Amino acid sequence: MENSLPRLLTGDVVGQVDATQVPRYAGLGTFARLPFIDEVSDVDVALVGIPFDTGVSYRPGARFGPSHVRESSRLLRPFNPAGSKSPFASQQVADAGDIAANPFHIEEAITQIERGSRELHERAKRLITIGGDHTIALPLLRTMAANHGPISVVHFDAHLDTWDSYFGEDYTHGTPFRRASEEGLIDKEGSMHVGIRGPLYSSKDLDQDKSLGFEIFSSVEFEDIGAQGAIDKIRERVQNRPMYVSIDIDVLDPSHAPGTGTPEAGGLTSRELLKVIRSFGAMNIVGADVVEVAPAYDHAQMTGIAASHVIYDLLSVMAPS
Ligand code: MN
Ligand code: MN
Repeated sequence: MENSLPRLLTGDVVGQVDATQVPRYAGLGTFARLPFIDEVSDVDVALVGIPFDTGVSYRPGARFGPSHVRESSRLLRPFNPAGSKSPFASQQVADAGDIAANPFHIEEAITQIERGSRELHERAKRLITIGGDHTIALPLLRTMAANHGPISVVHFDAHLDTWDSYFGEDYTHGTPFRRASEEGLIDKEGSMHVGIRGPLYSSKDLDQDKSLGFEIFSSVEFEDIGAQGAIDKIRERVQNRPMYVSIDIDVLDPSHAPGTGTPEAGGLTSRELLKVIRSFGAMNIVGADVVEVAPAYDHAQMTGIAASHVIYDLLSVMAPS
C-alpha cells in the first residue's frame, strides 16, 4: 500500500508522499511522509526515533516523543525558503523507525542505543535522532566519536546536563555531557551550551561545567545581543570542527514548547532557535538529536510542531545547495 502511494521523485531521490494527490492527514506517518529506509538504497540522512525516558528526573513521557513528532511533521512542505533548500530532493532522507531500548535497565538501554545507532550509521551518512530523554545523547556521542573522533557538541538546553549523578546513578538525562566529556567523546575546545537558564544547585555547577569543556551562551544573552550574538559565538567556538547538535526542546520557552518534562521560564522563542539553526549551512554538522518532547503535556501539538520544524531546518542546512 505504502509503495503504491504517489511520491515526489527527483532523479534517484525518493521524496515525500505527494500531498497534491493524497491529503497530508491520510496514510501511515513516517517523518514528513518520507520513505521508510527499506524503500531506498543510498541514504544521506536517516531519521530515527529512540522511545526511551527511564532517565528522567521529573515528569516522564518523552518515550512517546518520536511518534508525536512524526505525527506533527505532516505539514512540512518540499521547499524551504530559508536558505532556498529542497531538503528532501537534494539528498536522500529516510525514516529508519525506532531503536528499541529496555525501559527497565538504563545501562542496557544505553548499550542498545549505541549498537543500534552504530549499525544505522553504516547505512546512512548522517543521523538525526528523535528522543526520548536526554540520556540518549551519550550513546549517540559514542557512535559519533567512533566515526569522527572527539567532536564539538553544540547543546541547546535550559539545563547544563553536566551534573554528576542522581540518587547515586551515573546515567540519567541530567548527566550525559559529563559522561561524554569524561569518556573523551567531545572536543573540549569547541563545545558549548546555548539557552541555559534557571536555578542550579550551586555556583560550583558552572565551574565544573567549564572544566568539562563547555562555554555558555545563556538565554538572557538572547535578549541582550540576540540570535546573531549566539550565531557569532558558535562560529567562533566551533570553527570547522565536526559538530554534533543536541537540542533539548526545553530550550524553548514553555509558551512555545509546553510538552516537555522539565520546563523552565524565560526561554527562547521558536523563531530565535530556528534562526540559529539556519545559520549552520557552512558548518560541518555530523549528526543531531531533538529530545525531551513529552506529548502528554503538549497542547494543540505546539511542542511537536516546534520539534518537527527544528528537524526540517536541520535537514535543510545538511542539504547540498
Ligand atoms: Mn533540559
Ligand atoms: Mn537536556
